[in-house]
Amino acid sequence: MTDRKINIKSYTRNELRQVVAELGEPKYRAEQLHRWLFSNRVDNFESMTSLGSKLRNKLSRRYFIPSCSIERQQHESSIKEGAGTSKFLIKLHDGETVETVHIPADERNTVCVSSQVGCPLSCTFCATGYMGFTRNLNASEIVEQVYLANDHITAQSSANHVTNMVFMGMGEPLLNLSSVMEAVETLANQDYELTLPQRRITVSTVGLVPQIDSITQSGLKTKLAVSLHAADQEKRSTLIPIAKEHTVVNLRNALIRYAELTEEPVTLVYMLLEGINDSVQDAKNLATFSRNFLCKINLIDYNSIVNMKFKSVNEKKRDSFIRVLVDTGLHVTVRKSHGASINAACGQLALRKKQITASGRIN
Ligand code: SF4
Repeated sequence: MTDRKINIKSYTRNELRQVVAELGEPKYRAEQLHRWLFSNRVDNFESMTSLGSKLRNKLSRRYFIPSCSIERQQHESSIKEGAGTSKFLIKLHDGETVETVHIPADERNTVCVSSQVGCPLSCTFCATGYMGFTRNLNASEIVEQVYLANDHITAQSSANHVTNMVFMGMGEPLLNLSSVMEAVETLANQDYELTLPQRRITVSTVGLVPQIDSITQSGLKTKLAVSLHAADQEKRSTLIPIAKEHTVVNLRNALIRYAELTEEPVTLVYMLLEGINDSVQDAKNLATFSRNFLCKINLIDYNSIVNMKFKSVNEKKRDSFIRVLVDTGLHVTVRKSHGASINAACGQLALRKKQITASGRIN
């Protein structure tokens, strides 16, 4: 029975130190406990042999170890066998589900993780936004998504493993910043089973200004991506309602502070939507926004979602947009939309999940 016990993995590393102290144990036990939970990933206290039976018994009387599992998975076909994008529906210990995506490309295995069940920000182009918000994930639920994806990757080929991670799944990571930071620290631990250097982790946001400042001040070495999608205040507020509060001017100032202090470029993600943000004037606005600070622009395609009014732009339109940016000396990349056939592209997670839940299958 777990209902009267406490979820031990809901604690941060610091909180585990308090747990251990309250049980009258020395400090180093907290480090051992953290390793058993987050590197060895054991699912019972009995297996924690280095802790001693007295402590194991005390822990098992008060706490339980939750588990996350892959409930369903779907793979995008690819020319190279086994090299397509995979999407996982991950079941959390309380029955909630989130989606995690594995994107293989060249030598990289990138995992796109969720940070919340649903999202409260209701961006108009985003499937997750239509779900509403249920709850934040704790750090262990973020870490476990990476481990589960890694299990899948290594099962295909023992020489492969997760190399990169992006917080671009369900939810706004900066609304759950403490869990995101805790997860990053755990994953970056060089002594653990799976190590992801902070530089290989990208935190993506729609642009929450105080939280970007917190990252700037935190000393975190992760990369920062901002979903801009429009560089003028009115248009951006229409697409991203929270932009009314976190204005384009204030966002730009926060990004300038970030780039100056960290000396790292910000990736400005811009999804081209036909007739909405794809004009030459929109490109000029983006060029003006991007002037005079370290940044690069990542243009992405929109994949049509059922019941949504947006459409992707054609190649000619995209080329004219790019030309304006390149002519002003900006660094522009165009991201191919991995996972489009399984609705695994940015802003497309979760609506499909509702269909999965309703039909009980992924097709
Ligand atoms: S785009 Fe991101 S912040 Fe906006 S609703 Fe979707 S998940 Fe939330």
